[in-house]
Amino acid sequence: MIRQELAAEKGIIVSLRTVERAVQRYRQEVAAEARATVRFETPPGKQLQIDFGERLVEIGGSKVRAYLFVATLGYSRRHHARAFRNERQESWFDGLESAFVKFGGVPEEVLFDNARALVVEHDAATRTVVFNDKLTAFAKHWGFRPRACAPYRARTKGKTENGVGYVKRNAVAGRTFPSWEAFEAHLEAWTWEIADLRQHGTTGEVPIERFRRAEAHALKPIAGRPPFQAARELIRRVRAIVPDRLSDMLTRLKLTAVRDQLDGLLDEAGRQELSLRETLVLLCEREIARKDERRVEMTLKLARFPFVRDLSGFDFSAQPSLDPKQIRELASARWIANGENVLLLGPPGVGKTHLAVALGREAILAGHSVQFVAATTVVAQLAKGHGEGRLEERLAQFAKPKLLIIDELGYLPFEPNAAHLFFQLVSRRYERGAILLTSNRSVGEWGSVFSDPVVATAILDRLLHHSHVITIRGDSYRLKEKRRSGLLQKPAAPEAKSEKKS
Ligand code: ADP
Ligand code: MG
Repeated sequence: MIRQELAAEKGIIVSLRTVERAVQRYRQEVAAEARATVRFETPPGKQLQIDFGERLVEIGGSKVRAYLFVATLGYSRRHHARAFRNERQESWFDGLESAFVKFGGVPEEVLFDNARALVVEHDAATRTVVFNDKLTAFAKHWGFRPRACAPYRARTKGKTENGVGYVKRNAVAGRTFPSWEAFEAHLEAWTWEIADLRQHGTTGEVPIERFRRAEAHALKPIAGRPPFQAARELIRRVRAIVPDRLSDMLTRLKLTAVRDQLDGLLDEAGRQELSLRETLVLLCEREIARKDERRVEMTLKLARFPFVRDLSGFDFSAQPSLDPKQIRELASARWIANGENVLLLGPPGVGKTHLAVALGREAILAGHSVQFVAATTVVAQLAKGHGEGRLEERLAQFAKPKLLIIDELGYLPFEPNAAHLFFQLVSRRYERGAILLTSNRSVGEWGSVFSDPVVATAILDRLLHHSHVITIRGDSYRLKEKRRSGLLQKPAAPEAKSEKKS
């Protein structure tokens, strides 16, 4: 073979004897290699050894420094050789990836020496190795285990160091190349045509045959995995682009809680090891919670309550005339959904407005729109609208909320039209929207409140149909508080009544 190459390349004809004498030295080296590496035999697919060797190569008429990357499969002894202009990390990765592609798979482990590009620290005494972060990521990407030789014991890696020597002597020495590309092409052709086909001194087999027989199937298939750098670039681009796009889409879908808390929510899902479906539930819950909060906040503002009160702040023991069960039932807001009415009747200070606000709040929590308005304001606004010829507008405005709370009926201003206007409002909402009305007057006194018994009857007729009338006959909470502190004397026992009319 050597004689053939010499004849072809240099036009030199030499006798077989001459060549044999010349290669005698190499034969001994090969024998030494065989002895040195027997200890390190590894099963098929287990190990790939890699290394770099530096050499001056004559390319295009001048000496060029080339770094030869050589990868050797531990079992079959197949070689892969590449030429690089440096020994930087990209060159290692590039060399390894091209080896995986050439061998059609990835070995269990890759063995190398303590090159700075790959190993940050290798403590010879404790044998602890710190790999370069990017190498760790690279190894994870391809699914191999990186292994560094013990420092000063490069012989662990015997196969490749000899591989580098073999490539230098057999593929590079004594040759010139017209260009770098031609040099690279030569190395590739050499591995297939010479290295793969030689008879190996230790195994006694031809590497490509040994590879096909036992090692090809033992490697983990590449299965279309993209090169590491390309994959990293893709991930970087996805990270850079996707959040913006995602954020835009979430904005468009009005999923602002998910958008604003995405990273935290995904971390949380990761920590709890949630499935995709459970993660979606988490995201939806968070979005709904935020939307509910916002809606309640907004609706509370729009309701225009005179003060902030809730049911938990209502002391039922101070008002024995009230049935807590009935109030709790009303708190469920079912009556609002059904367009029913609630009349809270009783003297001043017994908590009518408090309860009205608290029930209005519950209605909002249940998802209804609420408007709170004083009875005097309702009548004044309707009268104003009527005077301006815009009564319809005003009526529509008061008809809108699902629950209209009209507080403190009984002190109506002396409006000749008051009863009529109020009747129109009640008619407009009749069986469509709920009304909660508080009054310090009993139903029987409404004729005089409206100074028109006929219209008052018509109003009551509509209000009381589907209604809950709660009459509080207790005394003022404020006065009670004062009495408790000894400022007032206790009056006669109160008598309370609560009825439902339908
Ligand atoms: P009304 O509207 O019947 O005249 P309010 O609801 O305005 O009475 O009550 C007067 C004050 O007393 C309010 O601050 C209210 O919160 C408080 N109050 C009335 N009844 C109670 C009660 N049972 N528990 C707690 N606070 C009450
Ligand atoms: Mg009141």
